[in-house]
Amino acid sequence: MKKLKAKYPGKCLKCGCRFLAGTTILWGHGNCELVTTEECEAAKALAAEVAEALAAEAAANAKPLGNGWNEVFEALEQAGQKLKWPKIIVEWKGTEIKLSIAGPKSKVPGVINVAAPKYGHGFYGRIAKGGLFTPMPGALPEHLGFILGGLGAGGKEALAEFGKTTGHCVFCNTGLEDEKSLKVGYGPVCAKNWGMPWGKKAA
Ligand SMILES: [Zn+2]
Ligand SMILES: [Zn+2]
Repeated sequence: MKKLKAKYPGKCLKCGCRFLAGTTILWGHGNCELVTTEECEAAKALAAEVAEALAAEAAANAKPLGNGWNEVFEALEQAGQKLKWPKIIVEWKGTEIKLSIAGPKSKVPGVINVAAPKYGHGFYGRIAKGGLFTPMPGALPEHLGFILGGLGAGGKEALAEFGKTTGHCVFCNTGLEDEKSLKVGYGPVCAKNWGMPWGKKAA
């Protein structure tokens, strides 16, 4: 292996530590590692420091949104018994957001992830039980605050309200056509999956 300065940040094969561009590494056959274990330890400490700083910054930006979110958690958990990947799509004046529980392998398991409905089209933040919202740095969609605040204040009732006002099922975002669905804000299939009243039961 040859000693050289890394042109790009990378990962040490010896221990898995991540290093910055400009670090002296041993390089050969497409593999690289840091020269000494001390350097590995230093790289790990630096990475931990950066992660801590990012977490502190996120915590400083966190906003309490209200206890209504506990009902949204409940709804998502209940639907998880019928659906593999339960998600709620709330729409307001052209802004659509997807709410889903972060799986065990995700960065922060168990929170509600707030994202664009289409995967990869935007990740806006996380909501913990109790309704603490940690936004992602960068621009957030226009009506996001209104939607998140509304659900924090009104819980399940606010969910139904969004569906009623927009005429789109608040769970799957399908356009609602029949009167019974428009009256509650979601369709009959979603009502079953999410344990919500529909038809005569909702009257
Ligand atoms: Zn290493
Ligand atoms: Zn639906």
